[in-house]
Amino acid sequence: MVSMYKVPSAMRFLACLFILHLVPWALRAQGTFRVVPLGTKGGLDESNLSAYLLAPAGRSDYLCLDAGTLYHGLQKAVERGTFSGPAHQVLREQVKGYLISHAHLDHLAGMISNAPDDANKAIYALPSCLEIIRDHYFNGQSWPNFGDSGQPPVLRKYRYVALAASEEMPVEGTAMFVRAYPLSHGSGYESAAFLVRHNTHYVLYLGDTGPDDVEQSNRLAQLWAALAPLVRAGQLKGIFIEASYPNEQPDRHLYGHLTPRWLLHEMAALAHLTTPELLRKVPIIITHMKPTEGNETRIREQLRQENTLGLTFLFPEQGVPIDLP
Ligand SMILES: [Zn+2]
Repeated sequence: MVSMYKVPSAMRFLACLFILHLVPWALRAQGTFRVVPLGTKGGLDESNLSAYLLAPAGRSDYLCLDAGTLYHGLQKAVERGTFSGPAHQVLREQVKGYLISHAHLDHLAGMISNAPDDANKAIYALPSCLEIIRDHYFNGQSWPNFGDSGQPPVLRKYRYVALAASEEMPVEGTAMFVRAYPLSHGSGYESAAFLVRHNTHYVLYLGDTGPDDVEQSNRLAQLWAALAPLVRAGQLKGIFIEASYPNEQPDRHLYGHLTPRWLLHEMAALAHLTTPELLRKVPIIITHMKPTEGNETRIREQLRQENTLGLTFLFPEQGVPIDLP
Protein backbone atom coordinates (compact mmCIF):
# COMPACT_ATOMS: atom_id res chain seq x y z
CA MET A 1 0.00 0.00 0.00
CA VAL A 2 1.31 3.40 -0.93
CA SER A 3 -0.21 6.31 0.93
CA MET A 4 0.66 10.02 1.10
CA TYR A 5 2.34 9.29 4.43
CA LYS A 6 4.79 6.86 2.82
CA VAL A 7 6.10 9.33 0.22
CA PRO A 8 9.78 9.73 1.03
CA SER A 9 10.40 12.79 3.17
CA ALA A 10 12.91 14.24 0.70
CA MET A 11 10.21 14.26 -2.00
CA ARG A 12 7.67 15.88 0.34
CA PHE A 13 10.25 18.51 1.18
CA LEU A 14 10.79 19.24 -2.53
CA ALA A 15 7.03 19.43 -3.14
CA CYS A 16 6.68 21.93 -0.29
CA LEU A 17 9.51 24.02 -1.67
CA PHE A 18 7.83 24.04 -5.10
CA ILE A 19 4.47 25.16 -3.66
CA LEU A 20 6.08 27.81 -1.45
CA HIS A 21 7.90 29.11 -4.50
CA LEU A 22 4.62 29.43 -6.42
CA VAL A 23 2.70 31.34 -3.73
CA PRO A 24 4.53 34.68 -4.02
CA TRP A 25 4.54 34.32 -7.80
CA ALA A 26 0.75 33.92 -7.82
CA LEU A 27 0.36 36.95 -5.53
CA ARG A 28 2.61 39.02 -7.75
CA ALA A 29 0.83 37.92 -10.92
CA GLN A 30 -2.47 39.05 -9.45
CA GLY A 31 -1.24 42.61 -8.84
CA THR A 32 -3.01 45.20 -6.70
CA PHE A 33 -5.96 46.63 -8.67
CA ARG A 34 -7.91 45.72 -11.79
CA VAL A 35 -9.14 48.52 -14.05
CA VAL A 36 -11.83 47.90 -16.65
CA PRO A 37 -12.12 50.90 -18.99
CA LEU A 38 -15.76 51.39 -20.07
CA GLY A 39 -15.03 54.58 -21.98
CA THR A 40 -11.70 56.23 -22.74
CA LYS A 41 -12.12 59.20 -25.09
CA GLY A 42 -12.58 62.90 -24.47
CA GLY A 43 -15.20 63.68 -27.08
CA LEU A 44 -17.01 62.91 -30.33
CA ASP A 45 -17.68 59.19 -29.87
CA GLU A 46 -20.63 59.07 -27.45
CA SER A 47 -20.21 55.29 -27.12
CA ASN A 48 -16.74 55.68 -25.58
CA LEU A 49 -16.59 58.54 -23.04
CA SER A 50 -14.66 58.63 -19.73
CA ALA A 51 -15.60 55.79 -17.36
CA TYR A 52 -13.28 53.36 -15.55
CA LEU A 53 -14.22 50.51 -13.25
CA LEU A 54 -11.74 49.86 -10.45
CA ALA A 55 -11.56 47.00 -7.92
CA PRO A 56 -8.86 45.43 -5.78
CA ALA A 57 -7.28 42.47 -7.63
CA GLY A 58 -9.31 39.30 -7.38
CA ARG A 59 -12.51 41.06 -6.22
CA SER A 60 -15.72 41.86 -8.07
CA ASP A 61 -16.88 44.91 -6.08
CA TYR A 62 -16.09 47.77 -8.47
CA LEU A 63 -16.42 51.49 -8.12
CA CYS A 64 -16.86 53.57 -11.26
CA LEU A 65 -14.58 56.56 -11.86
CA ASP A 66 -16.71 58.92 -13.98
CA ALA A 67 -19.60 57.50 -15.96
CA GLY A 68 -19.64 59.00 -19.46
CA THR A 69 -20.32 55.63 -21.12
CA LEU A 70 -21.58 52.68 -19.08
CA TYR A 71 -23.72 50.17 -20.92
CA HIS A 72 -21.86 50.08 -24.22
CA GLY A 73 -18.55 49.75 -22.35
CA LEU A 74 -19.93 46.87 -20.26
CA GLN A 75 -21.16 45.15 -23.44
CA LYS A 76 -17.67 45.46 -24.93
CA ALA A 77 -16.17 44.07 -21.71
CA VAL A 78 -18.60 41.12 -21.81
CA GLU A 79 -17.81 40.48 -25.51
CA ARG A 80 -14.11 40.37 -24.67
CA GLY A 81 -14.70 37.97 -21.80
CA THR A 82 -13.70 40.48 -19.09
CA PHE A 83 -17.08 39.86 -17.42
CA SER A 84 -19.30 36.83 -17.86
CA GLY A 85 -22.25 39.20 -18.19
CA PRO A 86 -24.90 40.06 -19.12
CA ALA A 87 -24.04 43.79 -19.14
CA HIS A 88 -27.17 44.95 -17.29
CA GLN A 89 -26.44 42.47 -14.49
CA VAL A 90 -22.83 43.64 -14.14
CA LEU A 91 -24.13 47.21 -13.98
CA ARG A 92 -26.63 46.42 -11.23
CA GLU A 93 -24.56 43.98 -9.19
CA GLN A 94 -20.85 44.67 -9.63
CA VAL A 95 -20.80 48.46 -10.00
CA LYS A 96 -21.22 49.51 -6.38
CA GLY A 97 -21.00 53.29 -6.67
CA TYR A 98 -20.00 56.26 -8.83
CA LEU A 99 -17.20 58.74 -8.25
CA ILE A 100 -17.94 61.72 -10.49
CA SER A 101 -15.06 64.16 -11.05
CA HIS A 102 -17.23 66.95 -12.47
CA ALA A 103 -20.67 67.38 -13.94
CA HIS A 104 -19.86 67.77 -17.64
CA LEU A 105 -21.97 65.44 -19.77
CA ASP A 106 -19.05 63.43 -21.13
CA HIS A 107 -18.38 62.30 -17.52
CA LEU A 108 -21.88 61.32 -16.42
CA ALA A 109 -24.21 60.85 -19.42
CA GLY A 110 -24.01 57.04 -19.09
CA MET A 111 -25.06 57.16 -15.44
CA ILE A 112 -28.00 59.46 -16.17
CA SER A 113 -29.37 57.51 -19.11
CA ASN A 114 -28.98 54.12 -17.33
CA ALA A 115 -30.51 55.33 -14.05
CA PRO A 116 -33.96 53.75 -14.67
CA ASP A 117 -32.37 50.27 -14.97
CA ASP A 118 -29.68 50.66 -12.32
CA ALA A 119 -29.73 49.36 -8.73
CA ASN A 120 -29.67 51.61 -5.67
CA LYS A 121 -26.20 52.99 -4.99
CA ALA A 122 -24.27 56.10 -4.01
CA ILE A 123 -22.80 58.94 -6.05
CA TYR A 124 -19.63 60.38 -4.48
CA ALA A 125 -18.45 63.84 -5.55
CA LEU A 126 -17.44 67.26 -4.33
CA PRO A 127 -20.49 69.34 -3.21
CA SER A 128 -20.27 71.65 -6.28
CA CYS A 129 -20.66 68.64 -8.60
CA LEU A 130 -23.54 67.07 -6.62
CA GLU A 131 -25.43 70.39 -6.73
CA ILE A 132 -25.24 70.46 -10.53
CA ILE A 133 -26.40 66.83 -10.77
CA ARG A 134 -29.32 67.55 -8.43
CA ASP A 135 -30.35 70.90 -9.92
CA HIS A 136 -29.67 70.40 -13.63
CA TYR A 137 -30.00 66.67 -14.44
CA PHE A 138 -32.04 64.78 -11.80
CA ASN A 139 -34.50 67.67 -11.47
CA GLY A 140 -37.73 66.15 -12.78
CA GLN A 141 -37.39 68.12 -16.03
CA SER A 142 -34.11 67.11 -17.68
CA TRP A 143 -34.74 63.59 -16.27
CA PRO A 144 -36.70 62.12 -13.35
CA ASN A 145 -35.21 62.84 -9.94
CA PHE A 146 -33.29 59.62 -9.23
CA GLY A 147 -31.41 61.41 -6.44
CA ASP A 148 -32.29 61.60 -2.75
CA SER A 149 -32.89 65.36 -2.53
CA GLY A 150 -34.04 68.23 -4.73
CA GLN A 151 -37.20 68.62 -6.81
CA PRO A 152 -40.04 66.19 -5.84
CA PRO A 153 -40.96 63.48 -6.56
CA VAL A 154 -37.66 62.19 -5.15
CA LEU A 155 -37.07 58.59 -6.31
CA ARG A 156 -34.07 57.87 -4.00
CA LYS A 157 -32.28 55.48 -6.31
CA TYR A 158 -28.98 57.30 -5.85
CA ARG A 159 -27.68 58.59 -2.56
CA TYR A 160 -25.62 61.77 -2.85
CA VAL A 161 -22.45 61.54 -0.76
CA ALA A 162 -20.54 64.82 -0.55
CA LEU A 163 -16.79 64.42 -0.23
CA ALA A 164 -14.93 66.98 1.86
CA ALA A 165 -11.62 67.88 0.20
CA SER A 166 -8.79 65.51 1.22
CA GLU A 167 -10.88 63.61 3.83
CA GLU A 168 -11.02 59.86 3.41
CA MET A 169 -14.37 58.08 3.22
CA PRO A 170 -15.35 54.42 2.65
CA VAL A 171 -16.95 53.48 -0.68
CA GLU A 172 -20.00 51.48 0.41
CA GLY A 173 -20.22 47.90 -0.86
CA THR A 174 -16.50 47.81 -1.67
CA ALA A 175 -13.26 47.31 0.23
CA MET A 176 -12.02 50.70 -0.96
CA PHE A 177 -11.79 54.22 0.45
CA VAL A 178 -11.72 57.52 -1.41
CA ARG A 179 -10.34 60.98 -0.87
CA ALA A 180 -11.14 63.88 -3.24
CA TYR A 181 -8.86 66.76 -4.24
CA PRO A 182 -10.28 69.79 -6.10
CA LEU A 183 -8.88 70.55 -9.56
CA SER A 184 -9.27 73.56 -11.83
CA HIS A 185 -10.90 72.80 -15.20
CA GLY A 186 -10.93 76.14 -17.02
CA SER A 187 -12.10 79.57 -15.80
CA GLY A 188 -12.56 78.52 -12.17
CA TYR A 189 -14.77 75.49 -12.94
CA GLU A 190 -14.19 72.85 -10.26
CA SER A 191 -13.21 69.31 -11.20
CA ALA A 192 -11.75 66.65 -8.90
CA ALA A 193 -9.06 64.02 -8.48
CA PHE A 194 -9.86 60.85 -6.53
CA LEU A 195 -7.27 59.01 -4.48
CA VAL A 196 -8.60 55.48 -3.99
CA ARG A 197 -7.13 53.21 -1.32
CA HIS A 198 -7.34 49.48 -0.69
CA ASN A 199 -5.29 48.31 2.31
CA THR A 200 -1.95 50.07 1.79
CA HIS A 201 -2.25 50.46 -2.00
CA TYR A 202 -3.44 53.57 -3.81
CA VAL A 203 -4.57 54.67 -7.26
CA LEU A 204 -5.00 58.29 -8.32
CA TYR A 205 -7.63 59.30 -10.89
CA LEU A 206 -7.68 62.86 -12.18
CA GLY A 207 -10.77 64.29 -13.82
CA ASP A 208 -10.30 66.96 -16.46
CA THR A 209 -7.73 69.55 -15.44
CA GLY A 210 -5.68 72.37 -16.88
CA PRO A 211 -2.03 72.91 -15.90
CA ASP A 212 -1.47 75.10 -12.84
CA ASP A 213 0.42 77.70 -14.91
CA VAL A 214 -2.47 78.18 -17.33
CA GLU A 215 -5.23 77.90 -14.72
CA GLN A 216 -3.32 80.29 -12.43
CA SER A 217 -3.93 77.74 -9.70
CA ASN A 218 -1.90 75.64 -7.28
CA ARG A 219 -4.30 72.71 -7.12
CA LEU A 220 -2.05 70.29 -8.98
CA ALA A 221 0.93 71.43 -6.89
CA GLN A 222 -1.09 70.65 -3.75
CA LEU A 223 -2.10 67.27 -5.15
CA TRP A 224 1.52 66.35 -5.95
CA ALA A 225 2.56 67.36 -2.43
CA ALA A 226 -0.11 65.04 -0.98
CA LEU A 227 0.91 62.23 -3.31
CA ALA A 228 4.71 62.39 -2.95
CA PRO A 229 4.91 60.34 0.29
CA LEU A 230 2.91 57.52 -1.37
CA VAL A 231 5.25 57.49 -4.38
CA ARG A 232 8.26 57.40 -2.04
CA ALA A 233 6.76 54.49 -0.11
CA GLY A 234 5.98 52.54 -3.30
CA GLN A 235 2.27 52.54 -2.39
CA LEU A 236 0.95 54.39 -5.45
CA LYS A 237 0.07 51.82 -8.14
CA GLY A 238 -1.22 54.02 -10.94
CA ILE A 239 -2.10 57.55 -12.07
CA PHE A 240 -4.95 58.26 -14.50
CA ILE A 241 -4.34 61.64 -16.13
CA GLU A 242 -5.73 63.36 -19.18
CA ALA A 243 -4.01 64.48 -22.38
CA SER A 244 -6.85 65.99 -24.40
CA TYR A 245 -4.97 67.87 -27.11
CA PRO A 246 -1.62 67.59 -28.89
CA ASN A 247 1.08 70.18 -28.18
CA GLU A 248 -0.02 72.35 -31.11
CA GLN A 249 -3.11 73.46 -29.15
CA PRO A 250 -2.39 77.04 -27.96
CA ASP A 251 -2.60 77.66 -24.19
CA ARG A 252 -5.43 80.16 -24.68
CA HIS A 253 -7.53 77.40 -26.25
CA LEU A 254 -6.84 74.61 -23.73
CA TYR A 255 -10.30 75.01 -22.09
CA GLY A 256 -8.97 73.48 -18.87
CA HIS A 257 -7.13 70.53 -20.39
CA LEU A 258 -3.58 69.17 -20.73
CA THR A 259 -1.34 68.48 -23.71
CA PRO A 260 1.52 65.93 -23.64
CA ARG A 261 3.99 68.73 -22.87
CA TRP A 262 1.90 70.10 -20.00
CA LEU A 263 1.29 66.59 -18.68
CA LEU A 264 5.04 65.93 -18.65
CA HIS A 265 5.60 69.32 -17.03
CA GLU A 266 3.24 68.33 -14.20
CA MET A 267 4.85 64.87 -13.89
CA ALA A 268 8.24 66.60 -13.64
CA ALA A 269 6.86 68.57 -10.68
CA LEU A 270 5.91 65.27 -8.99
CA ALA A 271 9.28 63.72 -9.90
CA HIS A 272 10.96 66.74 -8.31
CA LEU A 273 9.18 65.96 -5.00
CA THR A 274 10.17 62.29 -5.25
CA THR A 275 12.67 60.96 -7.78
CA PRO A 276 12.30 60.04 -11.47
CA GLU A 277 13.34 56.45 -10.58
CA LEU A 278 10.44 56.10 -8.13
CA LEU A 279 7.94 57.69 -10.50
CA ARG A 280 8.99 55.32 -13.29
CA LYS A 281 7.50 52.46 -11.26
CA VAL A 282 4.03 54.05 -11.38
CA PRO A 283 2.07 53.32 -14.59
CA ILE A 284 0.57 56.50 -16.07
CA ILE A 285 -2.78 55.80 -17.74
CA ILE A 286 -3.58 58.36 -20.42
CA THR A 287 -7.25 59.39 -20.55
CA HIS A 288 -9.56 61.77 -22.39
CA MET A 289 -7.72 62.10 -25.73
CA LYS A 290 -10.00 64.00 -28.09
CA PRO A 291 -10.42 61.71 -31.10
CA THR A 292 -10.42 64.50 -33.70
CA GLU A 293 -8.56 63.53 -36.90
CA GLY A 294 -4.99 62.44 -36.11
CA ASN A 295 -5.04 63.77 -32.53
CA GLU A 296 -4.61 60.46 -30.76
CA THR A 297 -1.60 59.43 -32.86
CA ARG A 298 0.03 62.82 -32.32
CA ILE A 299 -0.58 62.72 -28.56
CA ARG A 300 0.99 59.24 -28.31
CA GLU A 301 3.99 60.28 -30.40
CA GLN A 302 4.54 63.49 -28.45
CA LEU A 303 4.36 61.67 -25.11
CA ARG A 304 6.95 59.19 -26.38
CA GLN A 305 9.27 61.80 -27.89
CA GLU A 306 9.29 64.13 -24.88
CA ASN A 307 9.38 61.42 -22.21
CA THR A 308 12.79 62.39 -20.81
CA LEU A 309 11.70 61.10 -17.37
CA GLY A 310 11.33 57.59 -18.81
CA LEU A 311 7.76 57.18 -17.52
CA THR A 312 5.53 54.21 -18.41
CA PHE A 313 2.42 55.27 -20.33
CA LEU A 314 -0.58 53.00 -20.78
CA PHE A 315 -3.33 53.70 -23.32
CA PRO A 316 -6.59 52.17 -22.12
CA GLU A 317 -8.96 50.39 -24.49
CA GLN A 318 -12.69 50.01 -23.95
CA GLY A 319 -13.49 46.68 -22.28
CA VAL A 320 -9.85 45.51 -22.01
CA PRO A 321 -8.76 45.08 -18.38
CA ILE A 322 -5.55 46.57 -17.00
CA ASP A 323 -4.00 44.80 -14.01
CA LEU A 324 -1.88 47.23 -12.02
CA PRO A 325 1.29 45.69 -10.55
ZN1 LIG B 1 -14.37 65.77 -20.24
